Amino acid sequence: MTHSQLPAIITASTVTKHYNQTYALAGVDLTIGLGESLAIMGPSGSGKTTLLHCLAGIIRPDDGDIRLLPTDRSAAAQITSLKEAGRTALRREVFGFVFQQGLLLPELSAEDNVALAAMLSGMTRPAATDHARAWLTRLGLADHLRKRIGQLSGGQAQRVAIARAQVTQPVVTFADEPTGALDSATSAEVLSELLASTTGRGSTLVVVTHDETVAARCSRVVRLADGRIVSDSAHQQATQYVQNGR
Ligand code: ADP
Ligand code: MG
Repeated sequence: MTHSQLPAIITASTVTKHYNQTYALAGVDLTIGLGESLAIMGPSGSGKTTLLHCLAGIIRPDDGDIRLLPTDRSAAAQITSLKEAGRTALRREVFGFVFQQGLLLPELSAEDNVALAAMLSGMTRPAATDHARAWLTRLGLADHLRKRIGQLSGGQAQRVAIARAQVTQPVVTFADEPTGALDSATSAEVLSELLASTTGRGSTLVVVTHDETVAARCSRVVRLADGRIVSDSAHQQATQYVQNGR
């Protein structure tokens, strides 16, 4: 059980990752609860994206253990020991992704971007199209289904990205600076949609952000510095940061 008595969905222990002499992650222990909205904060270069990518099976840590616990929608998996094919399947079928940019294909329509993600997870084209339209409509884009991503505003494109991530009903959604390119009013709206479409249906959101207003709306905030967790709002007291002379 996690702090708030939620069942755990992901456990990470002593995760390390280095690039040459730089420790991007220097031993991270983290248990993420089902239905939690977890904000990961910290200065630029502190390891936020690396941690997100390790948790999501995008990159493999050098050391440590990351597990997905079983749910009614997914089997247990030791993410750190899966081969590339297993990690790809996990990313397509169990996880969802919303990044600042780069996941949407600019030449495809909003509908086709979302339907493509659904088909990659195993849906037939008609089912994928139906689900894509339903999600885009729910996110206020019913009048923009056939527009190419390049024809949409930043906020609209991020709503397409949310639809693309949620069309497979992922157990965990990973977002890296999802509102980083948006003005504050649009950012607040997009974050509301992201929370509603993830924790609103009992699934988990892990969001890397620089924005304290985004973090303040999450149920838990973990702060990184130099590849370590230096505070976790789930704990009574902030984790003491012990500088070691690596
Ligand atoms: P954040 O997302 O908090 O800004 P990152 O996780 O992107 O931080 O990076 C953490 C550290 O690891 C930084 O020092 C960064 O330069 C380094 N790093 C990350 N990815 C790579 C990479 N592919 N090659 C070399 N160094 C990297
Ligand atoms: Mg980053």
